[in-house]
Amino acid sequence: MIDVPQALRLILENARRLPACAAGLEDALGRVLDETIASNMDSPPYDKSIVDGYAIIAEDLQKGAAQLAIIEEVVAGSVPQQRVVRGTSVRVMTGAPIPAGADAVVMVERTEIVAGGEAVSPGRGPAQAGANLGQVLIRDEEIRAGRNVMRQGEAMRTGDIVLRAGARIRPLEIALLAEIGRATVQAIPRPQVAILATGNELVAASETPAPGQIRNSNSPMLAAVARQAGAAPVMLGVARDDPRDMADMIRQGLAADILLLSGGVSAGVMDLVPSVLAEQGVREVFHKIRLKPGKPLWFGVGPDGSSARAGKPPTLVFGLPGNPVSTFVCFELFVRPAIQQLAGLAPIGLAQRQAVLSAEHRQRGDRPTYFPAVFQPVAAGAKGHDSVTPVDWHGSADLRGLSMANALALFPPGERKFKPGEVVDVLLLDG
Ligand code: AMP
Ligand code: MG
Repeated sequence: MIDVPQALRLILENARRLPACAAGLEDALGRVLDETIASNMDSPPYDKSIVDGYAIIAEDLQKGAAQLAIIEEVVAGSVPQQRVVRGTSVRVMTGAPIPAGADAVVMVERTEIVAGGEAVSPGRGPAQAGANLGQVLIRDEEIRAGRNVMRQGEAMRTGDIVLRAGARIRPLEIALLAEIGRATVQAIPRPQVAILATGNELVAASETPAPGQIRNSNSPMLAAVARQAGAAPVMLGVARDDPRDMADMIRQGLAADILLLSGGVSAGVMDLVPSVLAEQGVREVFHKIRLKPGKPLWFGVGPDGSSARAGKPPTLVFGLPGNPVSTFVCFELFVRPAIQQLAGLAPIGLAQRQAVLSAEHRQRGDRPTYFPAVFQPVAAGAKGHDSVTPVDWHGSADLRGLSMANALALFPPGERKFKPGEVVDVLLLDG
């Protein structure tokens, strides 16, 4: 039996980053960019006002107050027609281009309409040049040239590199790409993860199990956690414990980047998965690891050219243990990093922390144990340490216990009592 780090190394050795393809912005979130992108424009594209107010010549306010004629109104989306000269101003809305001649904008809060003019109401649109818009009294001692004006190209100039190949696309990058008009980019695709449950006893969540049957909880869980990890799940359903049924479905699964099977990898007479995979040309890399829960894990690599997709690396095939908590732990320790590496990300798995045990814990057996636990971060500004409390968990079939946890606490192998106050490693489960 091999250890967890050794197993992970063997998996990652076989996990090659996928070739990039075109991605629309609506499908780019979380993916890794595969091109370096330079801006093809200045941002902002013109000098613009950052407040609602009056574009003026700052020198007109040398004494801290002045009464100016309003010669035009410019809303965002329209372009000024008039030139501001001494003694005049143009009413501007946030984002509007600064009129020629003006060098500053006074906030509307420091102004007062004093003489006549047509009241401006929202939606009225830009005033005609030469319309009678009255006079504005401005009191602003601090105004200087440049105040409340964002200069053309201040944030970004044409030719500036704005994103580099290898960057992970977050909502902010999607906005930036939209700003510069890049509606599609080259990005690493989401790995396709085919999910196949095995077992004669399994029925769908919507069905009522007959005696001896249980519902298939692994498939929906694996789909959800794969999606959370940045993959695109493909549901293959349930294979009976029958070599022919399994072989047909495994062949379909080998079209994906990753094939996840659950069940059928322990030592029972119905545990047919390893032999059927071998018949389909999937090469075993390892079977069984020193881990609790998750000992029966099987891992192999699909045959070359098993897919219609040209250039696709061989499928990574995981035979996950049938028990739901074992399946989950194996996914988190091994499948998530593989997905990350295929997607062009660092294969770091779940976030790791250290935390202080808040309760006594008994560890037994010769395998490291990833025990469902509640991680409690210390409040911001408070003294003390992050703490962790193992939940009341009844083993690898106990999904209810697992769902009370937000972390897995790692207890090394050996017979030993852990005392409150001891520091242990913790993996934080994803939202
Ligand atoms: P196996 O390794 O196939 O014998 O499965 C181990 C245990 O996990 C058995 O009790 C199975 O009934 C259970 N199991 C297997 N597959 C699933 C599944 N998809 N959902 C829930 N439990 C399962
Ligand atoms: Mg089974």
